[in-house]
Amino acid sequence: MVSARYRAFLIFGAPGSGKGTQGKILGKIPRFFFFACGDVFRSIDTRTALGQQFVKYSSKGELVPDELTVEFWRLRIQQSVEAHEFKPDIDFLILDGVPRNPRQAELMQQFIDVRRVFHLSCPIREKLVARLKKRAIKDNRLDDASEQLIWRRLETYEQQCKPLLNFYPPELIVNIDATQAPIQVLMEIITYIVREKDAVISL
Ligand code: AMP
Repeated sequence: MVSARYRAFLIFGAPGSGKGTQGKILGKIPRFFFFACGDVFRSIDTRTALGQQFVKYSSKGELVPDELTVEFWRLRIQQSVEAHEFKPDIDFLILDGVPRNPRQAELMQQFIDVRRVFHLSCPIREKLVARLKKRAIKDNRLDDASEQLIWRRLETYEQQCKPLLNFYPPELIVNIDATQAPIQVLMEIITYIVREKDAVISL
Protein backbone atom coordinates (compact mmCIF):
# COMPACT_ATOMS: atom_id res chain seq x y z
CA MET A 1 0.00 0.00 0.00
CA VAL A 2 1.32 3.44 -0.85
CA SER A 3 1.08 6.32 1.59
CA ALA A 4 -0.08 8.88 -0.96
CA ARG A 5 -1.40 8.35 -4.44
CA TYR A 6 0.86 9.30 -7.31
CA ARG A 7 -0.31 12.40 -9.16
CA ALA A 8 -0.85 11.46 -12.76
CA PHE A 9 -1.78 12.71 -16.20
CA LEU A 10 -3.07 10.04 -18.56
CA ILE A 11 -2.45 10.08 -22.26
CA PHE A 12 -5.18 8.05 -23.83
CA GLY A 13 -6.15 7.19 -27.39
CA ALA A 14 -6.19 4.57 -30.10
CA PRO A 15 -3.00 2.91 -31.32
CA GLY A 16 -1.31 5.39 -33.66
CA SER A 17 -2.95 8.47 -32.12
CA GLY A 18 0.43 9.85 -31.00
CA LYS A 19 0.43 9.02 -27.27
CA GLY A 20 4.08 7.97 -27.23
CA THR A 21 5.22 11.00 -29.23
CA GLN A 22 3.61 13.36 -26.72
CA GLY A 23 4.51 11.35 -23.63
CA LYS A 24 8.20 11.16 -24.53
CA ILE A 25 8.40 14.94 -24.90
CA LEU A 26 6.55 15.60 -21.64
CA GLY A 27 8.76 13.09 -19.85
CA LYS A 28 11.80 15.20 -20.71
CA ILE A 29 10.44 18.12 -18.71
CA PRO A 30 11.74 18.28 -15.14
CA ARG A 31 9.17 17.03 -12.57
CA PHE A 32 7.45 14.71 -15.03
CA PHE A 33 8.09 10.99 -15.20
CA PHE A 34 6.98 9.13 -18.31
CA PHE A 35 5.83 5.53 -18.29
CA ALA A 36 4.70 3.84 -21.52
CA CYS A 37 3.24 0.46 -20.72
CA GLY A 38 3.70 -1.00 -24.21
CA ASP A 39 7.37 0.10 -24.34
CA VAL A 40 8.10 -1.44 -20.96
CA PHE A 41 6.32 -4.66 -21.93
CA ARG A 42 8.38 -4.78 -25.14
CA SER A 43 11.60 -4.45 -23.14
CA ILE A 44 10.93 -7.66 -21.18
CA ASP A 45 13.00 -10.72 -22.05
CA THR A 46 10.58 -12.88 -24.06
CA ARG A 47 12.04 -16.01 -22.43
CA THR A 48 10.52 -15.05 -19.07
CA ALA A 49 6.98 -16.05 -18.07
CA LEU A 50 5.76 -12.46 -18.30
CA GLY A 51 7.57 -11.93 -21.60
CA GLN A 52 5.78 -14.99 -22.98
CA GLN A 53 2.42 -13.68 -21.82
CA PHE A 54 3.11 -10.37 -23.50
CA VAL A 55 3.99 -12.06 -26.81
CA LYS A 56 0.94 -14.32 -26.56
CA TYR A 57 -1.52 -11.43 -26.30
CA SER A 58 0.18 -8.61 -28.20
CA SER A 59 0.79 -10.84 -31.24
CA LYS A 60 -2.99 -11.24 -31.50
CA GLY A 61 -3.73 -7.54 -30.98
CA GLU A 62 -5.21 -8.28 -27.56
CA LEU A 63 -4.61 -6.88 -24.10
CA VAL A 64 -2.44 -8.58 -21.50
CA PRO A 65 -4.75 -9.59 -18.57
CA ASP A 66 -5.61 -6.68 -16.29
CA GLU A 67 -4.39 -7.97 -12.93
CA LEU A 68 -1.06 -9.02 -14.42
CA THR A 69 -0.63 -5.67 -16.16
CA VAL A 70 -1.43 -3.55 -13.12
CA GLU A 71 0.82 -5.62 -10.87
CA PHE A 72 3.62 -5.28 -13.43
CA TRP A 73 3.04 -1.52 -13.62
CA ARG A 74 3.02 -1.21 -9.82
CA LEU A 75 6.30 -3.13 -9.45
CA ARG A 76 8.01 -1.11 -12.17
CA ILE A 77 6.91 2.19 -10.67
CA GLN A 78 8.01 1.06 -7.24
CA GLN A 79 11.45 0.22 -8.66
CA SER A 80 11.64 3.68 -10.22
CA VAL A 81 10.78 5.23 -6.87
CA GLU A 82 13.44 3.16 -5.11
CA ALA A 83 15.99 4.13 -7.77
CA HIS A 84 15.03 7.81 -7.20
CA GLU A 85 14.13 8.18 -10.87
CA PHE A 86 10.52 8.95 -10.06
CA LYS A 87 10.09 11.15 -6.98
CA PRO A 88 6.38 10.97 -6.12
CA ASP A 89 6.46 13.91 -3.69
CA ILE A 90 7.60 16.33 -6.39
CA ASP A 91 7.01 14.56 -9.72
CA PHE A 92 3.92 13.91 -11.81
CA LEU A 93 3.45 10.67 -13.69
CA ILE A 94 2.71 10.80 -17.41
CA LEU A 95 1.06 7.50 -18.20
CA ASP A 96 0.78 6.22 -21.76
CA GLY A 97 -1.30 3.11 -22.36
CA VAL A 98 -2.09 2.33 -18.73
CA PRO A 99 -4.73 2.21 -17.33
CA ARG A 100 -6.20 1.03 -20.61
CA ASN A 101 -9.70 -0.06 -19.70
CA PRO A 102 -12.18 0.51 -16.85
CA ARG A 103 -11.01 -2.53 -14.87
CA GLN A 104 -7.38 -1.33 -14.88
CA ALA A 105 -8.55 2.14 -13.90
CA GLU A 106 -10.41 0.63 -10.98
CA LEU A 107 -7.40 -1.45 -9.89
CA MET A 108 -5.10 1.56 -10.15
CA GLN A 109 -7.41 3.96 -8.37
CA GLN A 110 -5.74 3.25 -5.03
CA PHE A 111 -2.32 4.14 -6.47
CA ILE A 112 -2.92 7.14 -8.72
CA ASP A 113 -4.58 10.51 -8.35
CA VAL A 114 -5.61 11.26 -11.95
CA ARG A 115 -5.57 15.01 -12.61
CA ARG A 116 -6.42 14.93 -16.34
CA VAL A 117 -7.06 12.40 -19.08
CA PHE A 118 -5.81 13.67 -22.43
CA HIS A 119 -7.84 11.85 -25.05
CA LEU A 120 -6.06 12.02 -28.40
CA SER A 121 -9.01 11.59 -30.68
CA CYS A 122 -8.82 10.47 -34.29
CA PRO A 123 -12.18 9.33 -35.64
CA ILE A 124 -10.76 8.59 -39.09
CA ARG A 125 -9.47 5.08 -38.56
CA GLU A 126 -7.71 4.95 -41.94
CA LYS A 127 -5.38 7.70 -40.74
CA LEU A 128 -4.38 5.60 -37.74
CA VAL A 129 -3.83 2.56 -39.94
CA ALA A 130 -1.55 4.56 -42.23
CA ARG A 131 0.46 5.88 -39.26
CA LEU A 132 0.79 2.41 -37.75
CA LYS A 133 1.97 0.89 -41.01
CA LYS A 134 4.64 3.56 -41.29
CA ARG A 135 5.73 2.97 -37.69
CA ALA A 136 5.87 -0.81 -38.15
CA ILE A 137 8.61 -0.36 -40.71
CA LYS A 138 10.44 2.43 -38.92
CA ASP A 139 10.44 0.97 -35.40
CA ASN A 140 10.27 -2.72 -36.22
CA ARG A 141 6.99 -3.11 -34.33
CA LEU A 142 5.75 -6.65 -34.84
CA ASP A 143 2.26 -5.92 -33.54
CA ASP A 144 1.76 -3.44 -36.37
CA ALA A 145 3.25 -5.68 -39.00
CA SER A 146 0.07 -6.79 -40.69
CA GLU A 147 -2.94 -4.74 -41.60
CA GLN A 148 -5.20 -7.43 -40.19
CA LEU A 149 -3.49 -7.16 -36.81
CA ILE A 150 -3.73 -3.37 -36.90
CA TRP A 151 -7.50 -3.55 -37.41
CA ARG A 152 -7.74 -6.07 -34.58
CA ARG A 153 -5.86 -3.65 -32.30
CA LEU A 154 -8.23 -0.85 -33.27
CA GLU A 155 -11.21 -3.11 -32.59
CA THR A 156 -9.81 -3.98 -29.16
CA TYR A 157 -9.43 -0.27 -28.49
CA GLU A 158 -13.05 0.51 -29.49
CA GLN A 159 -14.58 -2.34 -27.55
CA GLN A 160 -12.43 -2.62 -24.44
CA CYS A 161 -10.41 0.55 -24.00
CA LYS A 162 -12.66 3.43 -25.02
CA PRO A 163 -15.13 2.79 -22.16
CA LEU A 164 -12.34 4.02 -19.86
CA LEU A 165 -13.46 7.53 -20.80
CA ASN A 166 -16.65 6.91 -18.83
CA PHE A 167 -14.77 5.82 -15.73
CA TYR A 168 -13.42 9.26 -14.88
CA PRO A 169 -15.54 12.36 -14.19
CA PRO A 170 -16.19 14.25 -17.46
CA GLU A 171 -14.38 17.35 -16.16
CA LEU A 172 -11.10 15.40 -16.14
CA ILE A 173 -11.35 14.42 -19.80
CA VAL A 174 -9.72 16.68 -22.38
CA ASN A 175 -10.50 15.74 -25.97
CA ILE A 176 -7.75 16.73 -28.36
CA ASP A 177 -7.79 16.43 -32.14
CA ALA A 178 -4.95 13.99 -32.78
CA THR A 179 -4.82 14.77 -36.48
CA GLN A 180 -3.24 18.17 -35.75
CA ALA A 181 0.51 18.64 -36.00
CA PRO A 182 2.31 17.11 -32.99
CA ILE A 183 3.37 20.54 -31.75
CA GLN A 184 -0.25 21.73 -31.69
CA VAL A 185 -1.32 18.65 -29.76
CA LEU A 186 1.55 19.31 -27.34
CA MET A 187 0.52 22.92 -26.89
CA GLU A 188 -3.01 21.89 -25.95
CA ILE A 189 -1.77 19.34 -23.43
CA ILE A 190 0.68 21.78 -21.88
CA THR A 191 -1.98 24.47 -21.63
CA TYR A 192 -3.97 22.20 -19.34
CA ILE A 193 -0.98 20.95 -17.37
CA VAL A 194 0.26 24.42 -16.47
CA ARG A 195 -3.17 25.21 -15.05
CA GLU A 196 -2.87 22.32 -12.65
CA LYS A 197 -2.17 23.16 -9.06
CA ASP A 198 1.30 21.90 -7.99
CA ALA A 199 2.39 21.15 -11.57
CA VAL A 200 4.18 24.45 -11.95
CA ILE A 201 6.83 24.85 -9.33
CA SER A 202 10.19 26.45 -9.85
CA LEU A 203 13.25 24.25 -9.61
P1 AMP B 1 1.15 -0.18 -27.09
O1 AMP B 1 2.59 0.03 -27.38
O2 AMP B 1 0.65 0.71 -25.99
O3 AMP B 1 0.28 -0.11 -28.29
O4 AMP B 1 1.02 -1.66 -26.51
C1 AMP B 1 1.41 -2.80 -27.28
C2 AMP B 1 0.74 -4.04 -26.72
O5 AMP B 1 1.15 -4.22 -25.35
C3 AMP B 1 -0.78 -3.99 -26.65
O6 AMP B 1 -1.39 -4.35 -27.86
C4 AMP B 1 -1.07 -4.98 -25.54
O7 AMP B 1 -0.96 -6.31 -25.99
C5 AMP B 1 0.08 -4.72 -24.58
N1 AMP B 1 -0.28 -3.68 -23.58
C6 AMP B 1 0.30 -2.46 -23.43
N2 AMP B 1 -0.26 -1.78 -22.42
C7 AMP B 1 -1.23 -2.60 -21.91
C8 AMP B 1 -2.17 -2.49 -20.87
N3 AMP B 1 -2.26 -1.39 -20.10
N4 AMP B 1 -3.00 -3.54 -20.65
C9 AMP B 1 -2.92 -4.65 -21.38
N5 AMP B 1 -2.08 -4.83 -22.39
C10 AMP B 1 -1.23 -3.82 -22.67
